[in-house]
Amino acid sequence: MSDSHFKGLNTRLLHETVERTSYGETSEAIFLTSGFVYDSAEQAAATFTGDVTHYQYTRFGNPTTDALQRRLAMLEGAEACIVTATGMGAVSSAILSHVKTGDRVVASRALFGSCYWIVANLLPRYGVEAIFVDGDDFEAWAEALSKPTAAVLLESPSNPMLDVLDIARIADLAHSAGALLMVDNVFASPVGQKPLELGADVILYSCTKHIDGQGRVLGGAVLGPKQWIEETLQPYTRNTGNALSPFNAWVLLKGLETLPLRVDAMARNAAAVADFLADAPGIVQLRYPGRADHPQAELARRQMTNGGSMVAFEVAGGQEGAFRFLNALKLVAISNNLGDSRSLATHPATTTHMRVGAEERTRLGITDGAIRLSVGLEDAVDLIADLQRGLDALKA
Ligand SMILES: *Cc1c(COP(=O)(O)O)cnc(C)c1O
Repeated sequence: MSDSHFKGLNTRLLHETVERTSYGETSEAIFLTSGFVYDSAEQAAATFTGDVTHYQYTRFGNPTTDALQRRLAMLEGAEACIVTATGMGAVSSAILSHVKTGDRVVASRALFGSCYWIVANLLPRYGVEAIFVDGDDFEAWAEALSKPTAAVLLESPSNPMLDVLDIARIADLAHSAGALLMVDNVFASPVGQKPLELGADVILYSCTKHIDGQGRVLGGAVLGPKQWIEETLQPYTRNTGNALSPFNAWVLLKGLETLPLRVDAMARNAAAVADFLADAPGIVQLRYPGRADHPQAELARRQMTNGGSMVAFEVAGGQEGAFRFLNALKLVAISNNLGDSRSLATHPATTTHMRVGAEERTRLGITDGAIRLSVGLEDAVDLIADLQRGLDALKA
């Protein structure tokens, strides 16, 4: 059934683009198969010439991964989608399929670690110029985009300090330089922010995060214009083998059924936790895009539908304080993953951002006392009691 007359996102995610087999299953079927068979040699030949539409091989296409692609494209209002083995598979394929030697790429400085590595280390190896810009420095964006540019990559809110970047304004600058604007929308999730409506051309996801949201599988997605997806990205992912397992696609389809419910509940919890921590003794600084004291609060309100599920804060006492806080937690687990139904906290300076070096961390505002908290689906009352344990440990 491909009706598109439903108004609510929950209904649409449960019913739109869902196809049933002749068995009439309630839950979507999973096609866990690497290959497909043909009725005749003629049908096989016609499939390869393109005269007949038939699945060939799961690296090229599979009914379950296709279902996920249709569902995600529907969710974002995108013309097309390709799913990949991981979020980094999505980012690397989107960029590498698009650029060639001699091109330039402009990126925001505050990027997920592996995204930063691709732009800073991999692209120059292939003769692609890479330029980093501080997210809120518009002169720097304008200067960097005063020359023809192939792609702009940004992340908002950013990892880990939750800077909010003006996507619409950067989109204008990117387009005037002839660039495709690619937005890593992982921290906001598909429910919290609509980059295409703000002028972005391509959206990148780690489906590992909120879309699965239950800590089970890795996956990625690229959404964008049909022509670019079909002519630029798809030949790249098909031939380089960046394919998502149909099993993982099926798990992610189940995740999508509850995505808005989960993200809304996580954002409500995150807002409660942020309000509690912001005024607590021992907290030096706190960032939550949904709070009025966030440096880009007004922009966050305009650009996002909620404050998101991530909270960043700095505790007193530097690294020692941060470790004491983390080690005192009994409910919130220490983990560098995020977007999970279970609350997870990490110390970026010694984990996710260990490799970027002290100087770059200072530039990104990642202090030794900084903690990144991914707020899950536990009850806020229990989360707050647990965070109080962390605060008590600071006093000890
Ligand atoms: C996790 C993450 C990625 C990478 O996704 P994987 O599924 O781990 O490969 C990229 N960008 C951001 C912002 C992320 O949080």
